[in-house]
Amino acid sequence: MAQQTSSCQYIPNDQQKVGLPLIYGENLSHAFQAKREVIAVNKVDFGIREGKITAIIGESGSGKSTLLKLIYGLLEPSSGEVRYRGWLVPTRKDKLIPGHDAMKFVSQGFDDLNLYAKVWDNVASQLPNTNLSLKESKTRETLNRLKILHLDQQRVADLSGGEKQRVAIARALVNEPEVLLMDEPFNQVDAAFRDALQQDIRQIVEDTGLTILLVSHDPTEVLALSDELIVMKNAKIIEQGSPTKLYYEPTHSYTAQLLAKSNILSSNQAALMGISSNHTIGIHQEDVSFEENPQGTFHVKDIRFRGFYKELILSNGQLTLHAILYPLSKIAIGSKVNISITKYITFD
Ligand code: ADP
Ligand code: MG
Repeated sequence: MAQQTSSCQYIPNDQQKVGLPLIYGENLSHAFQAKREVIAVNKVDFGIREGKITAIIGESGSGKSTLLKLIYGLLEPSSGEVRYRGWLVPTRKDKLIPGHDAMKFVSQGFDDLNLYAKVWDNVASQLPNTNLSLKESKTRETLNRLKILHLDQQRVADLSGGEKQRVAIARALVNEPEVLLMDEPFNQVDAAFRDALQQDIRQIVEDTGLTILLVSHDPTEVLALSDELIVMKNAKIIEQGSPTKLYYEPTHSYTAQLLAKSNILSSNQAALMGISSNHTIGIHQEDVSFEENPQGTFHVKDIRFRGFYKELILSNGQLTLHAILYPLSKIAIGSKVNISITKYITFD
């Protein structure tokens, strides 16, 4: 899989730029001309590395799906460019069938699947009939990789969300694209099956060198899967880096909230906690330590059950902080606590 078959020129007079990451965007914008103009992607620069899993994260409406479609060539840039292996990505005006030949796009929902056909036929139908034994073996191999070979005679309509997503991915991969693009791929997959699907996706990347670019509005679900995160806010890419780097050392409070549900404090609020800073600070929930004390300055305002831990909402009247209670104790709403901050992040 993922051979370098597509280093070709689509656009007349295009010169290959060398030394770029596999996918490269520069000053890339897209504006939708609706009732009013909507700038969905606004002058972004980025690089996506080969053989890695990159996740575009950000709140709803931040421009993630638009960026993915620009990369695939489904939308026309209003400014700037996207390059694949140094060549401009063709769009509808350059190419009859939209979509880059080296890439496959798994759209949101299961739009591409034929729900009333069998799993086998949904995948096999992507291959030509010129070599039937190759068609058979490739279909089998791909279903096997996605661990759905045993479902091959079932109708897609009868499968669970997680199984349908596996069929959608198998259908995209059977032609051995170099890049797989997925928009919110875990939305309709039950949490219990998400980990297994993610591990199988990782394994495919390791076995084949496939490059994956996916979109998620719930970054906690892709922290373990991704090698690299691209953070979008209001049509801009605000930062890019490894999940650990962005979790522990985010540059923006938005990233800290998105990845760690961090407590964000203004410098005045930080001063109330005895932290002197001219900047906004972030305190991850796990860095808020507390101790029950009848003379405590904070009280427990609310307790949210989160399974193996509880999230405590602590308040002193002026300031509210979220903290993690683990291991569980009998602390109750109204209890007084003292707080100490073990670590915080300073933002620009
Ligand atoms: P995300 O995937 O991060 O939720 P989108 O890329 O879908 O965000 O959308 C970014 C912005 O562009 C939003 O304000 C959205 O309303 C707008 N938008 C998306 N698609 C269209 C469209 N076809 N026409 C007009 N506006 C659109
Ligand atoms: Mg979207």
